[in-house]
Parts: sequence; C-alpha cells; structure tokens
Amino acid sequence: MQDYKSLYSFERSHSRKNMLRKGLFALPLLILFVSALYADFGEQSPPQTSIQTSPDSADPIVVKLKLPTLDNSKPIDIELDNTPIAASKPVAAAAPPAKQTPPVVVKATPKEINGKWSIHKVKSGDTLAKIFSKYGLSAKLLHNIVTSSPESAKLAHIKPGQELRINTDTAGEFITLTQVIDAIHSLEIKRTADGFSTERIKQQVEYRTAFSNGTISQSLFLSAKEAGLSDPLIMSLANIFAWDIDFALEIRSGDSFTVIYQEEFLNGKKLRNGPILAAEFINRGKSFQAVRYIDKTGDTDYFTPEGDSVRKAFLRSPVDFRRISSRFQGARYHPVLGKKRPHRGVDYAARTGTPVKASGDGKIIFRGRKGGYGKTVVLQHGGGITTLYAHLNSYMLKRKKGSRVKQGETIGFVGKTGVATGPHLHYEFRLNGTHRNPLTVKLPAASPVAKAYRDDFKLQTAPLTAQLATLSRILLADAQL
Ligand SMILES: [Zn+2]
Repeated sequence: MQDYKSLYSFERSHSRKNMLRKGLFALPLLILFVSALYADFGEQSPPQTSIQTSPDSADPIVVKLKLPTLDNSKPIDIELDNTPIAASKPVAAAAPPAKQTPPVVVKATPKEINGKWSIHKVKSGDTLAKIFSKYGLSAKLLHNIVTSSPESAKLAHIKPGQELRINTDTAGEFITLTQVIDAIHSLEIKRTADGFSTERIKQQVEYRTAFSNGTISQSLFLSAKEAGLSDPLIMSLANIFAWDIDFALEIRSGDSFTVIYQEEFLNGKKLRNGPILAAEFINRGKSFQAVRYIDKTGDTDYFTPEGDSVRKAFLRSPVDFRRISSRFQGARYHPVLGKKRPHRGVDYAARTGTPVKASGDGKIIFRGRKGGYGKTVVLQHGGGITTLYAHLNSYMLKRKKGSRVKQGETIGFVGKTGVATGPHLHYEFRLNGTHRNPLTVKLPAASPVAKAYRDDFKLQTAPLTAQLATLSRILLADAQL
C-alpha cells in the first residue's frame, strides 16, 4: 500500500530552492470579504486525481491517491453567544439565582455550590445506563432525561473518547450533565424546577486568513510541507487542481504554488486549518487559479477567477483505486479467455466492496447482469455520453434503473462477477456509442457560476484573486534573487 506522500516525489534531482512564506494576512478588505465566506463550509465533493500508467512498461505503475476532504470540512456554525463550555470552571446549576449583589453569591463556599463534578471519558462498551450507575444516578433519572426532549435524546449517541461532565450536589442529586461533542460543540442538560432543560452550546470560533507559497524542488509534498502546509491542506490543494494537473506525473521542479487558507482559533489557540480560500498552481509555466465561492443557497465550490468550474463533468476514475491493472488498449491477451480481444475500458483493481462512484451526473439506464461483465451498471449522461461499470459485487440498492445520480454518488461495489480474475472495476466511457479512453478523453467542464450569482461571485472573490496576484509576484521576485 503506497501512501500519497510518495506520489508527490519524482525521481529527478534538482537543486533545491524553496521559497517559503507563511503569515497572517491583515488586509482588512480581504478579511471583510473573507468573513462573508464563513457562514457555511459546504463539503467539497472530493474530485479524483487523474491517473496515469507508464506508457512504455508492460506492468502498470501502482498509483494510489486517496482523496480526503478538507481536514475540517464539517459545517461550523458561528454563534454570537460567547458562552464558554464550563470546562475547568464549572458553573453550578444549583447556585442561587443571580441577584443584584453577585459578590455575595460568590462568597458562598464553592464546594457547597458546585457539589461534585465527575469527568467520564466514554470507553467502548460504555452505555449511558452503565455510566449513570457508576456515578450513583438512577436508571429512572436517565429515562426522564432522554425522554424530556428530542434534543436530550441525542445524549444517547455517546461515542468512545467523548467526555461527559456530570455535576451532582452534595447529596448526590443530579444537577448538570455536559456531553462534549467536539472542541466547539457540547450538549448541556440541566435540572430545572419542572424537569430538564437541554441546550446545545457552541463556542465562538475565530477565523483568520493565512497564506503559504513555495517553489517545488523535489516534490509537491516536501515543498509544501516546508512552506508550512499540513498534509490535509496539501491534499486539498491537489484535489482542487486534480482536474487539470496530474500530481502523480506532471509536477516539475520549478513549479510553484500559492495558497490562501483559513485558520480557526478558539480562545486564542489555533484549533485547526479551515478550507483553502484561493490557490494558484503554476505547472510547467502554466498558471491555474481557483477561488472558493459559496453561493446564496450555501453551495460551495471552487471556480476559476472568471467563474468557470475547476471541476469537470466527469471524474477521471470512478473508484479510489489501488492500481490500474489494465489500461485502455486496442487489443490485449485476455487473461481468462486466453485469446486476444480488445479491451475498451480501464480496470481498477480494488478490494471487493470498494465503493464505485458515478463519474458524472446522470441516470441509471441499466442495472443487472451482462454476460462476461457480470453485475453491471450503465449511466446515461448529457451530451451523448454513457459510462459503464462492470464486475460489481453488488449494487447500491436504492439506486435502481431509472434513478438519477449525482457525480461521486456510490452506485455499486467492486467485485469480480462475470469473467474476471480478481476483484476490479471495469470502467467504460462511450461518446455517441463509441468507446473512448477514460484516462485521456477530453472531459467537459462542470457548470460555471450561475448567471444569477455572477455579481456576487465577483464581489466575494475579487479580493482573493488580487491577493493571489500579489503573493505570486512576491514568489516570483524571491525566485529571481
Ligand atoms: Zn476490463
């Protein structure tokens, strides 16, 4: 199993000349506009990087690029309520109601007010019932809490590693239970006069903009690392441009990149990196730029500064493959049939059960067994294009004949039904009925920014584009030193 780091290495030695730059951006205008982007982080559907086999070797090169989403692509809501989670300084629910003379309240013995706080790290096999019993709380109380509201019922979804903070008074009676969901979110259940109150608490995250740029000496991975980019950010960068640049084979020494990305801070401490806001990659002298745009419906995607999609209407490969076991070719010796016959698709060897994704938006026009193809799905797309997925182990049940599918949605699972020596996906791409090589066929672009959003797009992304230009100039100036 090859990890993606090695992918970025290419075996030429070059003099190293890395321009590293990383810093915080204080450009108020940028921050202003960038703050408009914070409302939502839609998940990017991770594009597939393109794949190549060695043109002159009989054995295909093993290439694998597992494409993660951003390290934190989960949506994060920003709330103005700045209530911190009662972590080190628990607030007692049993404290007397706030009076006009708070100092008097504070004078009371803290122990008396706070009762006892127990912190429980959820282990595998833990149930709420077990945890409650461990801390001397009754099953009836648990029942009353989880049935008190739909929100409190979520308490039942405890996961190993999560933290529960239980507050009881001196008599051992329940006061508060806090379920820490992640660094930002928690669920707090309090006893009230007439039952329980449940509140979802979110801490306010501060967003900052950072940038990084560098020139590639040995590999994108190493150079980007030196420029201060984390692995997930490097992968995000590769994902954004994966439709245009083959990061496995086409990267050259002297290529350069500039990335403007978000950083998230909690209480002044960096929590994690946010998404890439804008990026440029110069590959063999050709510049590729992308800016992140969230439209008014909350859809997030990367576009060129002109508003064209950086994605294509089709994934280059419909599976996270481990290797290409057979390339598209006119004729080959068929390993099972023992005779020469044309192979008009690409085979992706992958473990049985690996999800097979629709390479583009379309409709399922065939789902069933098809002779040597075994279990097969055929999709009809726009523009006279059909794609075929064969040797499946099983289908995605809910996606039947006639179903509409979106690019990247799972339609089935890798197997070896039909005539196949081992588990693999056989993938075909046909244009008006003619087989085309899925690895090299020119793919139509995905939709650009909708007309209705063009003005908004320009408004949101112009500062990022300007920033990219500035950073590129700095990089260029450094390179010429
Ligand atoms: Zn095949």
